[in-house]
Amino acid sequence: RNWVESNLSQELLKAVERAGYKKPSPIQMAAIPLGLKQRDVIGIAETGSGKTAAFVLPMLDYITKLPPISDDREAEGPYAVVMAPTRELAQQIEDETVKFAHYLGIRVVSIVGGQSIEEQGFRIRQGCEVVIATPGRLLDCLERRYAVLNQCNYVVLDEADRMIDMGFEPQVVGVLEAMPSSNLKPENEDEELDEKKNYRTTYMFSATMPPAVERLARKYLRNPVVVNI
Ligand code: AMP
Repeated sequence: RNWVESNLSQELLKAVERAGYKKPSPIQMAAIPLGLKQRDVIGIAETGSGKTAAFVLPMLDYITKLPPISDDREAEGPYAVVMAPTRELAQQIEDETVKFAHYLGIRVVSIVGGQSIEEQGFRIRQGCEVVIATPGRLLDCLERRYAVLNQCNYVVLDEADRMIDMGFEPQVVGVLEAMPSSNLKPENEDEELDEKKNYRTTYMFSATMPPAVERLARKYLRNPVVVNI
């Protein structure tokens, strides 16, 4: 197992090396190449497996291939959104993302409860490629028109089972519905994909798969690959 086999770009491999990650973990080895191919992924994994980098690295690789969000684009919102059940988890994901993102010039904003929502909306509008959020606060931010998700094509639902347990299903759905549905891959998996199109890639991580999580996956993921390591 080595990083070169993960298919990450040279730029990302360099960021991984600088972050001091010598070898990919099994979940990283399995999930990263799928995200790079725009495949949707359901990851059954616990904290400690390296699951965060397993979705963060393909997400950052995807973003490096897009133009930086500058003046004419910042009003359209971030390129990627990660949702997590708690502030603490959102903070851990932010720390893990920034480890790599700061070598790549990718800006990360976190949107969690307990801080000024006006300030958070302002930070998104100043331009950022990645938003890491708890679902309730992000939906609030969107409903107040402080932020939009008009060009968000990379979504991660981390600890989906916990988000559902905490009663956040409506908020998660509200945020997903605020993204352009025109970029969802066709539901029929036999239908050919348009090679020029930038489809929405969705990663869902969950330790368990109760019916409500299955329902969410059926509605918002397309032909997902289940990675259970
Ligand atoms: P996670 O399961 O994503 O919460 O990650 C658990 C811990 O392992 C975090 O502190 C990561 O920074 C660290 N980590 C994740 N992947 C690697 C890796 N490939 N090499 C070294 N440390 C890692």
